[in-house]
Amino acid sequence: MQSKEIICTACPIGCHLTAHRDKNAKGGYRIEGYSCKRGISYALAELTDPRRILTSTVRVVNSTHKRLPVRTAEAIPKDKIFQCMQEVNRIAVKSPVKMGDILIKNIADTGIDLISSRDIK
Ligand code: SF4
Repeated sequence: MQSKEIICTACPIGCHLTAHRDKNAKGGYRIEGYSCKRGISYALAELTDPRRILTSTVRVVNSTHKRLPVRTAEAIPKDKIFQCMQEVNRIAVKSPVKMGDILIKNIADTGIDLISSRDIK
């Protein structure tokens, strides 16, 4: 039987989960080691559709701040991170920018926007 170790990051406790392949279990895996049910959802999402919030910076062309912190508005599929970073590295912004402004709509066809993480004047 195939199994995989996963650390749950849904809360600061960080339970050490083990996912065992089991065709009879919900989602195709039997999960052990969780302290609450969020651990089960976390493990199944991590095994079937792993996602991360992408954080980075982009160049600012007309400010004393040379870089603007940015992030995706929601978690994006992990396998799209490289493609998203290519788009992030291609853009430069002009101030003023407000926190939450959309800088790239539907980045890398994820359906999720890249937004500013802060204001710059
Ligand atoms: S399983 Fe529950 S208690 Fe454990 S880290 Fe995940 S969310 Fe926290």
